[in-house]
Amino acid sequence: MSIENYILLGPPGSGKSTQAELLSAGLGLRHIDIGSALRAAAEEDTPFGHMVNATINKRRELVSDDIVKAVLEKALKNIQAPQGILLDGAPRRASQIDKVTEALRSVGRTISWVIFIDLSEEESIERISKRYLCLSCHKPYIFGKDIFSTEAVCDACGGKIGQRTDDTPAGVRKRFQIFQAETLPVADYFEKAKTLLRVDGHQDAQAIYQDIIRQKGR
Ligand SMILES: [Zn+2]
Repeated sequence: MSIENYILLGPPGSGKSTQAELLSAGLGLRHIDIGSALRAAAEEDTPFGHMVNATINKRRELVSDDIVKAVLEKALKNIQAPQGILLDGAPRRASQIDKVTEALRSVGRTISWVIFIDLSEEESIERISKRYLCLSCHKPYIFGKDIFSTEAVCDACGGKIGQRTDDTPAGVRKRFQIFQAETLPVADYFEKAKTLLRVDGHQDAQAIYQDIIRQKGR
């Protein structure tokens, strides 16, 4: 069986991390999450690590496409096993498509499928704005399921419960709109290249997973 390499795209709340787990386990893929790879790189005591740290932690800016490429190349070199990958977090804008393609090509890989989990703006806001967390120990809570009042305190440490500014309705709306403006063109690109698998993110996680498996088998 030939090695397959996947890219995972989806707006906030589309359930990308759950699908990443299901797909990695189900298809034996190595999950490369560019966000965590960048955070890990920022911890390194190297010139590159310092540069990434200055960008994401000190200036709180988006990293350049070249940094994304460098982090991806490093992650790819660490894979020894003849194993497919599931790339998550890049390309997040059209200018990163070539960078990602080149990084993959440099280790003899090509993009087999691009999975796009589609979700409406309303549902994205609905799902994410229920996300709360303990401001002290960061234990996650879902409003309406784990907590029923914004005055609730953390059952693990007694800390105050709050929301990331990113997770408020206004914050999610902004992230969703950035996704539409910057990442949808990436999905369109792969749709034209006939490698896009578009799945409906309003379904439950298992149904989304089965849909992906069914579509790629066509
Ligand atoms: Zn806590």
